[in-house]
Amino acid sequence: MNLDITPLETWTGCQSRPLIIAGPCSAESEEQVFQTCSQLKTKNVNIFRAGIWKPRTRPNSFEGYGEKALPWIQNVQKELGIPFIIEVASPEHVELALKYDIKMFWIGARTTVNPFNVQALADALRGVDVPVLIKNPVNPDLSLWIGAIERLYQAGLKKIAVIHRGFSALHKSKYRNEPMWQLPIELKTEIPNIPIIGDPSHIAGKRAYLLELAQRALDLNFDGLMIESHINPDVALSDAAQQVTPDDFYQLLSNLKYRIVKDESENTSFINQLDEIRQQIDSADRELIEILRTRMALTEKACEYKIENNVTIFQVERWNEIFRSRSEWAKKMQLNPEFISEIYKLIHIESIKQHTELMSKSK
Ligand code: PEP
Ligand code: MN
Repeated sequence: MNLDITPLETWTGCQSRPLIIAGPCSAESEEQVFQTCSQLKTKNVNIFRAGIWKPRTRPNSFEGYGEKALPWIQNVQKELGIPFIIEVASPEHVELALKYDIKMFWIGARTTVNPFNVQALADALRGVDVPVLIKNPVNPDLSLWIGAIERLYQAGLKKIAVIHRGFSALHKSKYRNEPMWQLPIELKTEIPNIPIIGDPSHIAGKRAYLLELAQRALDLNFDGLMIESHINPDVALSDAAQQVTPDDFYQLLSNLKYRIVKDESENTSFINQLDEIRQQIDSADRELIEILRTRMALTEKACEYKIENNVTIFQVERWNEIFRSRSEWAKKMQLNPEFISEIYKLIHIESIKQHTELMSKSK
């Protein structure tokens, strides 16, 4: 899909990558916002963030100071000369935020899931020249994420970017939200010019994991990072465990390796070498497909033989043994056994299809 999206540098004024957005999870007082942001200002931050309305999964936790906090943001923005981005979840939020001169908005993960809310925001933003960053929905549904981009785009907004903050998952790993990196990559494949900002804070849930996640986002060529920083994280009213002090934030930035600077190098020997490796990959893929063809022919033969001899087609023990032994072989060959297991699950589905077709033909 080709959308006419305004390039990031046009509205951020930031020519170098990555774009850095930092600030507290929530605005807790004018002093807290000022102290945090004045320290962050000296540490190469392009845009400040702060939450005013906080969507909380469960009631009875801090839900943000709302309108009362908007003049705090307005004052600090004026004093420090760096624009703020805040979360909006309703037309009323948009109207109030614009009144207090807020320059940019993001749509939170709990709002992106709901097309009614996204449409109401798009309608409220129609004709307003303001950048909007769309967080991924809480659930791993690419269409919902793309749908939110389309709703804003159709309302005439061109300064659009997305934020990858991870997804809720049934089986928790060490992170608060599963990164599922394949989803932002798929989104980039669908809409190649959409800028993408990594939000390692909300994926991590704990400050100890910020560096590895921020590095991963940069390695995948993300355009920027949004990181939560608080002058005194341990007493933060929301997301205390994942926020870092401005000094620790700076340390984190200095530890990042900016490995990928451009998509393709202009150096001809690099291009030739890469071309050579890609040809080898093409030829390996051809062999892989030929081997799969051979395997399917063999299972077809075995199936026909079983039909002729009136033997049952599906033998659970045989498949269990295949999964077990192939994972073992994978391990010995330094391949991830789970990856091989996933491939064999697909092969199993295809074999069942093949067997069922052969059986119905033989009747
Ligand atoms: C936030 O950025 O503080 C926030 C509430 O994020 P999310 O919508 O990603 O949970
Ligand atoms: Mn937060």
